Amino acid sequence: MEVLNGNQVSKSLKIAIKAEVEQLKKDGKKTPHLAAILVGNDGASMTYVAAKEKDCKEVGFDSTVLRFDSSITEEELLNEVIKINNNPAIDGLIVQLPLPKHISEKRVTETIDYHKDVDGFHPMNVGLMFKGLPSFLPATPFGIVKLLEHYGIETSGKHCVVIGRSDIVGKPMSALMLQKNCTVTVCHSKTKNIEEHILMADIIIAAVGIPEYLKASMVKEGAIVVDVGITRVDDSNNPKGYVLKGDVDYANVSSKCSWITPVPGGVGPMTRVGLLLNTLEAVKRK
Ligand code: NAP
Repeated sequence: MEVLNGNQVSKSLKIAIKAEVEQLKKDGKKTPHLAAILVGNDGASMTYVAAKEKDCKEVGFDSTVLRFDSSITEEELLNEVIKINNNPAIDGLIVQLPLPKHISEKRVTETIDYHKDVDGFHPMNVGLMFKGLPSFLPATPFGIVKLLEHYGIETSGKHCVVIGRSDIVGKPMSALMLQKNCTVTVCHSKTKNIEEHILMADIIIAAVGIPEYLKASMVKEGAIVVDVGITRVDDSNNPKGYVLKGDVDYANVSSKCSWITPVPGGVGPMTRVGLLLNTLEAVKRK
């Protein structure tokens, strides 16, 4: 078994991005600028946004975080999005999800100018992606494709089973694997005899959100396993009070497969680099 090392690959991609940013600056072009909107004080959301700020700094991007109380109204938030749409200094905008219940995530996502939608969630980018046209790809599937490409993983003719059909991971992931000439099966909570489908997979992409969902008995010998899941599981022995668990029972699955992503250090850092690549692209397209 070999490890698909997201930490290592994202590091080398970040070095390449930084070099491109330096070149842009030398050429008198614009420094990429990513803005993030954060509503409320959800611990995980605050951690993700802080990580994105740190990544921007590391590669030489400018970044802005707009923080709002969870009492902000939908209309007020939409106006903030429109202000950023109209601000030429900002190239990419992400709105950290989830949003408070009284705000429609759909309406917010659809209000972002799709040229600045570096999360790739706007219906325009989704449509372009499904047609295989230039678009901003959602960061997690984009990062996974980059990881597989880095290790020269052959996808053509392979049977890929994606577990999960969310708009941000499962659905776009299945579209991208189809574009990479896989035969794709998408499984979800209503799939019957799910183990039979998963056992046929040459490549398994687990995006379920259930810790250690994928057991060794569900994995064909030699399969490639990509673990998207990150769940905080309470652990009083850990100083943080929790540990991060993936969707894969790593200890038992790893000995059966040819390649596997660890959690942490697999898909997570590749997602972060996916967002940086999209922001750089937003500047280059101008
Ligand atoms: P989500 O929106 O909750 O979707 C979960 C999917 O799993 C749904 O399609 C659901 O099916 C399916 N599912 C639930 N229980 C199942 C079961 N028993 N058998 C088969 N399928 C089942 O989650 P998500 O946003 O896609 O995220 C999935 C996981 O990835 C989470 O742990 C999340 O934290 C993590 N994540 C990690 C990254 C990263 O950078 N590493 C990025 C994004 C997400 P239905 O549609 O039928 O309900």
